[in-house]
Amino acid sequence: MSPARLHMNDTAVVEAEHLEQLIQALIRKGYEVVGPTIREGAIVYDRVGSVKELPAGWTDEQEGGTYRLKQRADKALFGYVVGPHSWKKYFQPPAIRLWRADREAKGFRIVAEKQEPAKFAFLGVRACELHGIRIQDKVFLEGPYSDPTYRTRRENVFIVAVNCGQAGGTCFCVSMNTGPKAACGYDLALTEVLEGGRHYFVVEIGTERGAEIVAEMPHKPAMDAERQTAEGIVAETAAHMGRTMDTEGIKDLLYRNYEHPRWDEVAARCLSCANCTMVCPTCFCSTVEDVTDLTGEHAERWRKWDSCFTMDFSYIHGGSVRATVKSRYRQWMTHKLATWIDQFGSSGCVGCGRCITWCPVAIDITEEVRAIRKTESG
Ligand code: SF4
Ligand code: SF4
Repeated sequence: MSPARLHMNDTAVVEAEHLEQLIQALIRKGYEVVGPTIREGAIVYDRVGSVKELPAGWTDEQEGGTYRLKQRADKALFGYVVGPHSWKKYFQPPAIRLWRADREAKGFRIVAEKQEPAKFAFLGVRACELHGIRIQDKVFLEGPYSDPTYRTRRENVFIVAVNCGQAGGTCFCVSMNTGPKAACGYDLALTEVLEGGRHYFVVEIGTERGAEIVAEMPHKPAMDAERQTAEGIVAETAAHMGRTMDTEGIKDLLYRNYEHPRWDEVAARCLSCANCTMVCPTCFCSTVEDVTDLTGEHAERWRKWDSCFTMDFSYIHGGSVRATVKSRYRQWMTHKLATWIDQFGSSGCVGCGRCITWCPVAIDITEEVRAIRKTESG
């Protein structure tokens, strides 16, 4: 039996067997639902049409340079942490055509690319990822120039957040004050509970359109005991972070240490492969490439993800500004943790741990900060 009308800030309970109806309600409202699913040995974000495509009963084990899927003892749908994908690929696609040009009798004609409105519903967004999206909103929407591709894709998105029921081996959201509980920026926030043979979700309603979706599913108001169980799960996750980072005075710490010997040590290991920037939910660098066909009648301009770890990225007339691996790693880490604060008013790191997990040589941003801080504190 479902109670009367729901509103923003209400908390409901939905049994796990009814989660399918959440996906179907979103699809009926015209959303393209994107959620966690297993591809090639990892949990990634892709289109999902049913709960059956979620990674039921799977978890991920993560450490520096290590990611492995493992079966759980239960059938949790969100019993993993985060994989190599972040949501940024849906707002800022890895490659996108900006315009085309066709040669004409006198000169050429530019054909602007149409911005197709997207209507995504993201299922399973973690608290650190909500902060990552917030940071990218600032970069792409709130400066003097707003990005039309990002804006068109971002403005209709429906967000179903999931509070983390376990911390990964490389997570440090508590240090960055970004998790593990979703605080804002969602339409619905779920906490998954498996206890005493029962499997259910405590659903916090963040918006009126979130309330409309829950109203289409069998639900009931959350009891105090169910809310407390959900809070206990998140508190337990917060107490078991895989990593920590002391952020006290971190901006000035890094500004004081541009010449620290640790940059040489990390550069000796770093492959400059750019993995850390590709998996990072906040990194946003891109480049543009012009291509022509063999006839020279047709040209296109594409924008593609790029990375501060490539030599080309800092190329200006005469050569690359950051010609060494040391200068590129130092640029990346000081941007994330220091200059980003001056530029955008927050850290560029949300503590998701992906750059540690997906670094082939297990370079660990928390360890690098610790090493620099240690020499100052003696
Ligand atoms: S820190 Fe690791 S992931 Fe990043 S560029 Fe260096 S080797 Fe690649
Ligand atoms: S710098 Fe690393 S830990 Fe921080 S948000 Fe990016 S990928 Fe996550």
